[in-house]
Amino acid sequence: MEIKKIGVMGAGIMGSGIGQICAVAGYPTIMSDISTELVNKGLASIGSFLSKSVEKKKITLDEEHRVLGNIQGTTRFTDMSDCDMVFEAVVENIDVKLKVFAELDRICKPDAVFLSNTSSLCITQMAAGTKRPERFLGTHFFNPVPLMKLVEVIDTMMSSKEVFDIVYELMKRLGKEPVHAHDKTGFIVNRLFSTYLLDAIRALEEGVGTVEDIDKAMKLGLGHPMGPFELLDLTGLDTNLAIANTFYEEFRERRFAPPPTLRRMVMAGRLGRKSGRGFYDYTKSK
Ligand code: NAD
Repeated sequence: MEIKKIGVMGAGIMGSGIGQICAVAGYPTIMSDISTELVNKGLASIGSFLSKSVEKKKITLDEEHRVLGNIQGTTRFTDMSDCDMVFEAVVENIDVKLKVFAELDRICKPDAVFLSNTSSLCITQMAAGTKRPERFLGTHFFNPVPLMKLVEVIDTMMSSKEVFDIVYELMKRLGKEPVHAHDKTGFIVNRLFSTYLLDAIRALEEGVGTVEDIDKAMKLGLGHPMGPFELLDLTGLDTNLAIANTFYEEFRERRFAPPPTLRRMVMAGRLGRKSGRGFYDYTKSK
């Protein structure tokens, strides 16, 4: 299968990262969001990553121009019609994702492959909503996408082995280390890690320590590069709440239930770095 053009739905934290690695790998890439402002924000974050890489002499100015020349932004669904692969990285909400895939299914070529970056939602449910369940997989990247090596490639009982192999190879061409995971809630990493993040919030609620001390303890005590609150702020509290809700619905176990503080912070718009404030305040220097 020749991949001539790649589409990315969503230009947020993950969509812009996925768009960037596709453009770096030389694929003509189109990235969409619901407004020109959000598309431009995604393109700006790619631009800023690349110019920092030029400053650090990791890439040349020519390389920066080459990558930027490979990526285009749009707010029109129909611009995805000639894509061979479409990555979906819209908000972690099953209704929104089902709507996006129904529309893509209508406008894309019948042999185009659809790939969801969901953290916790059911790939089988999304695939079954299209007329191409055999050409539908999960590709779960990690944040920040250009720096994190891992991608989980998720199959379903309907997906084709041939398509799986093509996507697995594509992940290597995008500079990633793929692992094969099955369509079970949370796949591998989030299945094991989500309760750790929720427990950190519960420890805070119980007064075990401050945000700063819990983060410091986990970094210095276990050699983690980031503490749990830094990670929650980086990945987005709204996304973490959506993930916890999905897990709790699936397993009905208290350890997966979203703690009250998480719910309230999302209600208050404290989503982490993306909104300027989460467990830390990013409007002042941290
Ligand atoms: P985000 O909030 O930064 O970005 C989501 C973007 O999707 C927003 O810009 C939103 O406007 C856009 N969007 C919504 N509806 C759309 C539509 N119909 N068409 C196009 N764009 C639309 O969220 P994110 O952190 O980038 O998460 C995106 C997906 O990636 C989620 O499924 C999330 O669970 C998953 N994910 C997130 C992380 C992380 O660390 N944040 C890691 C792995 C996977």
